[in-house]
Amino acid sequence: MRKKIVAGNWKMNTDYAEGISLFSEIVNIVRDEKKGDQIAVICAPFIHLNSLSKLGGDTVKIGAQNCHQNESGAFTGEISAKMIKSVGCEYVIIGHSERRQYFAESDALLAEKTKIALAHGLIPLFCIGETLDERNNGNFFEILKGQLENGVFGLDEADFAKVVIAYEPVWAIGTGLTATAEQAQEVHAFIRSELVYRYGEEVAEDTSILYGGSCNPKNAAELFAQKDIDGGLIGGASLKSRDFADIVKTFNA
Ligand code: PEP
Repeated sequence: MRKKIVAGNWKMNTDYAEGISLFSEIVNIVRDEKKGDQIAVICAPFIHLNSLSKLGGDTVKIGAQNCHQNESGAFTGEISAKMIKSVGCEYVIIGHSERRQYFAESDALLAEKTKIALAHGLIPLFCIGETLDERNNGNFFEILKGQLENGVFGLDEADFAKVVIAYEPVWAIGTGLTATAEQAQEVHAFIRSELVYRYGEEVAEDTSILYGGSCNPKNAAELFAQKDIDGGLIGGASLKSRDFADIVKTFNA
């Protein structure tokens, strides 16, 4: 059965004290108000992770926003998958559009990061998405297909079955522009059909595909009601405890 997941991406926001305080608020609200079996995750800055993992318990799980593709070594300033796992993280975002755009992360590099994350028992939240130009040119299905093929389709079935895909149209991230529920569902159905083609019906049916891009408490219900949308990757709204918890609660039974 595919999991319903709402994952927050705090990006480069909150100092340590602010992060602890915001996370504690989120845990308290989610603990009191969540009713279903949906999974809440916060992907926080690296320096917060060790402390947050002790506060979240099973109520709110912890993720990193990136990891290095190598096991260890002379990579000054970098953080490895093993280090992330060692502080109690379960998830790691791989291939966010900001990493692709500002840090020139290629599909080939992201494939390596995904492999090492899996090797250390982390669940990759693997992001794909098209730019506005690509959407307007009408070639976005090809773009998304390429990101899947070159990013994760090299994995064997057992490894791929652990991956969560996040569809994040670049034009909707942090812009206030949301894909309509129909636009998002169309792409999610396309992604699932590609998964069927590569891994078969059963794996495709069990893979969680999250939507990300200006998702908020007002639009989450319509988006999450779509057949192939299994939750969200939430940027701005995850920095407000009430908003993030309300998005998590969208799945309440
Ligand atoms: C994101 O950064 O993954 C994201 C979806 O951001 P926002 O919700 O702010 O658009």
